[in-house]
Amino acid sequence: MKCYLGLGANLGDRAQTMRLALRQLAAAPGVTVAAVSALYETPPWGKTDQPPFLNAAACLHTDLAPHQLLRLCQRIEQGLGRQRHEHWGPRPIDLDLLHIPGVTLSDATLTLPHPYLTQRAFVLVPLADIAAGEIIVGKTVADWLAAVGDRENIVKTEEAGWETL
Ligand code: ADP
Ligand code: MG
Repeated sequence: MKCYLGLGANLGDRAQTMRLALRQLAAAPGVTVAAVSALYETPPWGKTDQPPFLNAAACLHTDLAPHQLLRLCQRIEQGLGRQRHEHWGPRPIDLDLLHIPGVTLSDATLTLPHPYLTQRAFVLVPLADIAAGEIIVGKTVADWLAAVGDRENIVKTEEAGWETL
C-alpha cells in the first residue's frame, strides 16, 4: 500500500531530524521511501507564539497496516526527542499519516485522510510536489492547494542534499 506522510519540525536541527526520521522509516522492515518533497519553511500554525516550522511530505510504500505504520511513526518521533503530545505545540519532529489511497477510517488513534489536510497550505504545498494529481476527498491535491488561502507564506528552502537519504 501507498501512504503519504507529512513531516514537520520546529525545534533543534529541524532538517537533520526530519532526514533522520525518513532514514529510520526507510530502514524499517516492510517500508520503502518512494518520493520526498522539497523542504518548506512555514510560519507557526495554531499556536503562533513558537518558532517557524520546516515541513515536507513523503510517499511511502509499505506492507504495514495503517495502525502499525502510525505506531512506527510514533516510536520514531519519541526516539528523536518528541517529549509530549502538546496539540499544535512546538516539537522536534511530527509525523502525520496524510492519506492512504482507498482508505477512509476514523477511530480513537487514527483518522484518514488526515482531518485538516485539505485546509492547510503547509501540508498541501509539499504534498503537491509528489502527489499533485492524487485525488483526496473528491479533489486533486492541486485543486485543494489552489483553493487554500495562505500559500505565499510557505517558502521553499535550498537545503542541499535534503532529498538524498
Ligand atoms: P498534531 O499532529 O495534530 O499536532 P500529535 O502529533 O500530537 O498532534 O498527534 C495527536 C494524535 O493524533 C496522536 O496520538 C494520533 O493517535 C492521532 N492521529 C489521528 N489521526 C492521525 C493521523 N492521520 N496521523 C497521525 N496522527 C493521527
Ligand atoms: Mg502529529
